[in-house]
Amino acid sequence: MAPYRIAVIGVGKIATDEHLPSIAKNPRFTLAGLVSGRGIEQPGVPTFQNSAELYAALPDLDAVAICTPPGPRTALAREALDAGVNVLLEKPPTPTVGELRDLARQADGQGRIIFTTWHSQYNAAVEETRARLAGHAIRRLAITWKEDVRRWHPGQDWIWETSGFGVFDPGINALSILTRIMPAPVFVRSARLLTPSNRAMPIAASIAFTSPALTEPAPGEDAITAEFDWRQRGDQTWDIAADLADGTALRLTGGGTALAVDGVTVVEEPRDEYDRIYARFAALLEAGTSFVDMAPFELVADAFMVGRRAEVEPFVA
Ligand code: NAP
Repeated sequence: MAPYRIAVIGVGKIATDEHLPSIAKNPRFTLAGLVSGRGIEQPGVPTFQNSAELYAALPDLDAVAICTPPGPRTALAREALDAGVNVLLEKPPTPTVGELRDLARQADGQGRIIFTTWHSQYNAAVEETRARLAGHAIRRLAITWKEDVRRWHPGQDWIWETSGFGVFDPGINALSILTRIMPAPVFVRSARLLTPSNRAMPIAASIAFTSPALTEPAPGEDAITAEFDWRQRGDQTWDIAADLADGTALRLTGGGTALAVDGVTVVEEPRDEYDRIYARFAALLEAGTSFVDMAPFELVADAFMVGRRAEVEPFVA
């Protein structure tokens, strides 16, 4: 079978670090073009200034991977579907939940597929955690996602704008793991959003959740919690600790790459999330089936809906 001809739209950090290497490694894809306003190039591959030029020049394109910030992603995805092209969406998939739902409808109507990629879900330790939580009652689950925004997002002003999601840009990775591993739905109970006085989006957030998977929590206790903070210096933390009702302690660390059970490491694998994402995309294209996972995104929307806001000191890059 001929490889799928794919183009990458937006050649920034994640496209360069992950998408382009994973496409190059996967024989089911061939890189047919790049769309880069800055004119980033790859040997032997045409670069276009904008997506309209891409579709005009390459009428036989099968798919695009939209690797821009979320702000322009909905319009770019609609344009791709209108051009008859299948769409892989980086996370967060769109600026709003409503737009994602509408894109799914559009893709269905036009006989094309869209694929929401929540990259943190593509780890063996995440799947192992999901298997070990299945059918179990959970006593407590704590997410700690603390990183230094200056280290991981230098010069990315878009991340502080309204469609950039602030600290939820990394935090949504934790939420995508949460929705993947939980044996029952999870709901936002309350949230506190700390926003620098000179920015639109939060720099830190504390969220409490409920779920039918929980044992009865102690009065006044929040049994499922998430702490997101972009002001972390020194050690960076991307951990989820789950204690089961039967006393088993699961510790998912390193952003979902390692799992320890009662202090013993049971899975630890190097990160190859994007190779798995492209393997899945090829399978979806072969089957002609979209995959749209709204659950992590709904938790973000609900946190913003019920969240109490507090202003904190200005953020200076
Ligand atoms: P980035 O380094 O700022 O790159 C985004 C690229 O998108 C820019 O270099 C630009 O590409 C293009 N772009 C920017 N604004 C655009 C606009 N208004 N219209 C069209 N294209 C535009 O950002 P990133 O870190 O790669 O993040 C992109 C997405 O990937 C985000 O949604 C982020 O959450 C997600 N992500 C990032 C990481 C990470 O580690 N950085 C990890 C996983 C997922 P050109 O210069 O080529 O025009």
